[in-house]
Amino acid sequence: MNKINWNFNNSYFGLSSTFKANINPVPVKNPELVLLNKTLASELGLNFSKVTEKELSEVFSGNSLPDGSNPIAQAYAGHQFGHFTMLGDGRAILMGEHISKNNERFDIQFKGSGQTPFSRNGDGRAALGPMLREYIISEAMHYLNISTTRSLAVVKTGEEVIRENKLQGAILTRVASSHLRVGTFQYITARKNENELRTLVNYTINRHYPNIKKSNNQALDLLKVLIDIQIDLVVNWMRVGFIHGVMNTDNMSISGETIDYGPCAFMDIYDPKTVFSSIDEFGRYAYFNQPSITKWNLARFAECLVPLIDPNKEKAIKIATEEINNFDKKYEAKWINMMRDKLGLFGQDPKDQVLILDLLTWMHQNKADYTNTFCFLMDENFQYNKIYNNSDFLIWKKRWNERLKQNNNTTEKCFSLMKSVNPQVIPRNHKVEEALESANNNNLSPLKKLIKILEKPYEQLKENINYQSPAPISNIKYKTFCGT
Ligand code: AMP
Ligand code: MG
Repeated sequence: MNKINWNFNNSYFGLSSTFKANINPVPVKNPELVLLNKTLASELGLNFSKVTEKELSEVFSGNSLPDGSNPIAQAYAGHQFGHFTMLGDGRAILMGEHISKNNERFDIQFKGSGQTPFSRNGDGRAALGPMLREYIISEAMHYLNISTTRSLAVVKTGEEVIRENKLQGAILTRVASSHLRVGTFQYITARKNENELRTLVNYTINRHYPNIKKSNNQALDLLKVLIDIQIDLVVNWMRVGFIHGVMNTDNMSISGETIDYGPCAFMDIYDPKTVFSSIDEFGRYAYFNQPSITKWNLARFAECLVPLIDPNKEKAIKIATEEINNFDKKYEAKWINMMRDKLGLFGQDPKDQVLILDLLTWMHQNKADYTNTFCFLMDENFQYNKIYNNSDFLIWKKRWNERLKQNNNTTEKCFSLMKSVNPQVIPRNHKVEEALESANNNNLSPLKKLIKILEKPYEQLKENINYQSPAPISNIKYKTFCGT
């Protein structure tokens, strides 16, 4: 059935059986469309005008396979909280790669679509709440201008999934530049077959980084590119207070997209140690640890590439280590520039770092909301909060005002820089929970309203007001759950 303009061209399917298992989605009892992302569909060149909602439910549940699809589960491994495990798509099926009207290639993946050879003891299914959560947050990230996988549709399966309670089953259609992960490389490396590793490197470069095709040392250049794009990504997360929550190597994408929205959440009160995930006992993936975990994951990626960096193992390790050691310097430089932007600062002043750190320390000590503090700096009429009458804050603000005047920039110019990087709205945890709870009870309007609000995060709009307050104090110990 190709009434909706699927345009599949499945390159990963063409790789050998080492890389994947051929498997169809397991049909579901009573699929019912919950959300459909028409904007994304149109960007992809899909057309839903000739199909009924019933047909869409059949398509996005995997009950009727799209023309040209070649369903597979991808093999991968991963360090989960530091421990190495062989994994693979245990509850997701890659339907194929759709070529968009702009000739871009996107993986179309169904998440929650039944068991696969990689399911281990899992049921291969997903619950409605977490799939809607991924939809909300991934789309919010997209509109925050942060590289991410996207969400095209959510369908209820009409079946129950058993977790701690009985929950409604659902399937999310995820759209990604690819689902290649650091863990894909780890899986192949663990097999100790250099030809397979070379195949994966070639595949990756062809698909994502054709500009390094002619390089003298492709593996080394791939490592360098990945370091750069992952730094850009994590700096963006830090910018908006996003906490991924489960930065295992299988959840780090080779394309540099944010992937796998499990226990992620946005920080409200500024505290670098913030962690929401119920299973992250030791704060491995806490807000301030994200850059060093990115570096740790990149070191695992570098280890995979060693055999191709230089035939002399010692030399290869030395080269790769040097690249990884450059991470901190590169990260610091990009982070401080990002913070300068958040404060509307042009040029560089040796005192910038202290100015920035002093603000963060003040926020931490005074339990100030991270997002709203920048909103207040951009507009003092923002929301009355006596915290900003605090004398230490006023002294800091004076220093900041002095610094703003440097480089002869107009206030408008400084403020327009700030407005381009400081969101007015983020997916506040209590708002997300409220929307999910209603959706679970068949009321989709709070969810749809929230999604709409999150499409314009940088605009100062009247309707934002109800979405800008941090969670009530009772919500401070907010917890998120993984693998649900
Ligand atoms: P995640 O925490 O979503 O990144 O998943 C980690 C690994 O567990 C991946 O290999 C998933 O495919 C697998 N997994 C998670 N939930 C399930 C499930 N319900 N059934 C089978 N496999 C699962
Ligand atoms: Mg994952």
